[in-house]
Amino acid sequence: MNKPVIGISSCLLGEPVRYDGNHKHALPIIEHLAQYFSFHSFCPEVAIGLGVPRPPIHLIKKHQQIVCVDVADPSIDVTEQLIQCCQQQDWQDNLCGYVVKARSPSCGWQSTPVTLTTKATQPLFDSGIYTAQLIKRYPNLPVIEEEQLNNAIYREDFIQRALTYERNK
Ligand code: SF4
Repeated sequence: MNKPVIGISSCLLGEPVRYDGNHKHALPIIEHLAQYFSFHSFCPEVAIGLGVPRPPIHLIKKHQQIVCVDVADPSIDVTEQLIQCCQQQDWQDNLCGYVVKARSPSCGWQSTPVTLTTKATQPLFDSGIYTAQLIKRYPNLPVIEEEQLNNAIYREDFIQRALTYERNK
């Protein structure tokens, strides 16, 4: 029987797609989830053609909006490309959950630091542009960062929510 499918940031599966050519293989988590799910791997930064290796990008706040720009050259803005990239991924319709890489300007979920150009009293965190758009498209899709999956309670909760989502599709 085919297992239900969850989306996953490619670097977590051990694919060397990060800006520095490395990966962030989360092997114990993957092995655990693989008992229940199969994976659809996706790297939005590679998908929009940034290449590997590539100059790093980050989130900044500009005109009251969160945007994603090149660290060295903020005139290079990939926000719209990441939004459009997410919009074009029809395979997301088949998913019952998504595991994303924490703190990434593309894939993070509520954990990505926003670089502030003015002095602020509080650090600011937001979601990566791709994941923010994913959640807009599928507001009920169970989404979790890989670091939360190290916690057994969060992990089992995610598994149950994803299996329920699959049953109710
Ligand atoms: S864009 Fe996402 S999948 Fe690609 S390297 Fe960064 S965190 Fe991993």
